[in-house]
Amino acid sequence: MGQSVTLTGMVLTAMPIGEYDKRITILTKERGKITVFARGARRPNSQLLAGTNPFSFGNFELFEGKSAYNLSRASIQNYFRSLTMDLDAAYLGFYFLEFAEYFCQENNDEKEMLKLLYQSLRALESPALDNRLVKLVFELRGLTINGEGPSMFSCLHCRKKEELEFFSVKRGGMFCASCGKLVPARRILESTRYTMQYIVSVDIAKLYSFAVSEEVLGELEGIMQEYGKQYIHHEFKALKTMEEGADFSKP
Ligand SMILES: [Zn+2]
Repeated sequence: MGQSVTLTGMVLTAMPIGEYDKRITILTKERGKITVFARGARRPNSQLLAGTNPFSFGNFELFEGKSAYNLSRASIQNYFRSLTMDLDAAYLGFYFLEFAEYFCQENNDEKEMLKLLYQSLRALESPALDNRLVKLVFELRGLTINGEGPSMFSCLHCRKKEELEFFSVKRGGMFCASCGKLVPARRILESTRYTMQYIVSVDIAKLYSFAVSEEVLGELEGIMQEYGKQYIHHEFKALKTMEEGADFSKP
C-alpha cells in the first residue's frame, strides 16, 4: 500500500501517454523535481485537465506508489495564463521551465529554484519590466543557485574587496584593478558590477525591483552570453526556437 501526500509546486513538463493519460514533472518545494502520472488527465471532462499543464502552480495531492507518484487532485493557485498571450514571454517562460527541468533533481532541496521560477514568471507577466532584463536576472541567479555563479564580492586573485574593476568569464568572477591586468578579463562598468552583485545575493522576493540603463543591459547581455557558453553545456529547445524565429525576419 502506498500513501497520500500533498506537495506544493509547479508543473515543468507534460507528455501525453497512451490515449488519455499524461506524464508530468513537477518542481516541488518538499521533494525537488518529481515525475508524476496523471491518469485520465486528457479526457475532456477531467478535473486534472488544466492543472497538469506547464506553468500550473499550486498544491498537488499525490498517491505515492512503489516506483512512481500518481496524481489524484490538483488545486491550482496560478496558471500564468497571461503568458500565453504574448509569444516572446511564452517562449521565455518555457525556457525558464526547461532550465529548471535541466538543473533540478529529485530529493534535492530546490526551494530557491522554485521561488526564482515563480518570481521570474510573474516578472514576465509584468508590463513594467523589460523581458531582456528578466532573462538575464533569471540566468545569473539560476546559475548561482546551482553553484555555478560568479564570485562577485572580492578579487579572485588577491581577495581584495575594493577596486573591483575587471570581470573574467573564464575564471568566473571579479578581479581588482591590479590583478585584472594579469588575466584574460574585461573592464566592466561599476553599475554593471553592482547590478550583478545585487542579482546573485538579494532575497529572491526583491529580485525584480530594479531597472538598469541600456548601457548596463547591453554589457550584462554580453557577459551572460559568454558566461552561458562556458558554464551551460546544453541546448535549450525554447531558446533555439526563439533564435530561429528571429531568423524569419532576415532577407
Ligand atoms: Zn586583486
